[in-house]
Amino acid sequence: MNNFSSGPAAINMDILQTIRDELLDFHGCGMSVLEMNHIEKDFFDILSETRELFESVLKIDDEHCVFFVTGGGWMNFSMIPVNFLSHSSCCDYADTGVWAGFALQEAKKFGNVHVCASGAPDYLHIPTITPEDISPNSSYLYICTNNTSYGTRFSPEKIPYDCGVPLIADVTSNILAEELDVNRFDLAFAAAQKNMGPSGVSVVVANKEFLEKRRKTDIPRILSYYDYYSTNSTFSTPPTFAIYMINLNLKRLIKNGGIAPMQAKNRKKAALLYDAIDSSEIFSNPISKEDRSLTNVVFSTKDAALDERFIRFAQSHDIVNIRGYKTVGGMRIGLYNAIELQQVQALVDCMQCFEAEL
Ligand code: PMP
Repeated sequence: MNNFSSGPAAINMDILQTIRDELLDFHGCGMSVLEMNHIEKDFFDILSETRELFESVLKIDDEHCVFFVTGGGWMNFSMIPVNFLSHSSCCDYADTGVWAGFALQEAKKFGNVHVCASGAPDYLHIPTITPEDISPNSSYLYICTNNTSYGTRFSPEKIPYDCGVPLIADVTSNILAEELDVNRFDLAFAAAQKNMGPSGVSVVVANKEFLEKRRKTDIPRILSYYDYYSTNSTFSTPPTFAIYMINLNLKRLIKNGGIAPMQAKNRKKAALLYDAIDSSEIFSNPISKEDRSLTNVVFSTKDAALDERFIRFAQSHDIVNIRGYKTVGGMRIGLYNAIELQQVQALVDCMQCFEAEL
């Protein structure tokens, strides 16, 4: 089966097999990871190792920390304004589509949101953000580095690292898929279900000084970034099994050389698919070339009925989960780390076969 879901996404078969093999008895300790006490050594070792693997694969510096938050992307959409905004202050959001849009709607519930840059109405490009775009006294600038639904991404040159305010990023759908200098963010979060593990948990990388300076003691602990950081994610029972799966994914990535070779592979996969779309007479991708995502490729025939026919045709060829996001339409292909080049080739063959039969 070729599962191109944009999330929860395909998981490598060898990882699923390891989970199956280890489910009843983890490394001879006589119990499943599912049964481990989260503050005893067996699980604590998994937790610490997972954090260390993440720090090593992303080359996290001493000024930053890594921890696991219970809840996915939406949890962070709320936590960010709860932690870093007050009713009298303001913040800046780059509105680059669905996920940045949801995040900014949540922030509006807690303070003033200034949209400093926008790709509206069609979100086909990533706007350039300069310091002049940021509002005075802004508490932070928020961006979403890869827009899972519209298939756009901030190229490294467009990431507004030097806008003079703390930079917060949603890196959910391109974390571990391409080189990203997360040390340059004051806080970056990624829901796990694309390249790391199951849904319902996110990994956060944060600047320790930023967390300490902005610490609020009058917010619920479950929403407090500082509390996750200062307790190594254990004041509440963390999603233990999800963290174990992240551990397996990170080990696999490191065994295969880390992010650089993965990025090279992802570029090849994306190039194969974009080339097929660009040379097709019926399929097209509307995104500015320099802003195209490596991990989420969108395309359509510009005819909803024909798109639907293609989705059904692909399904009959074991190619599934390619329907576009509900408000975008067309097709969307998740090319996350678990997808192999030959699976993309199978999709391209299917597209060409469909076109030839029309
Ligand atoms: N951010 C991005 C970039 C996403 O793609 C998604 C979900 N697809 C989210 C946030 C929301 O994450 P969750 O569903 O885990 O709340």
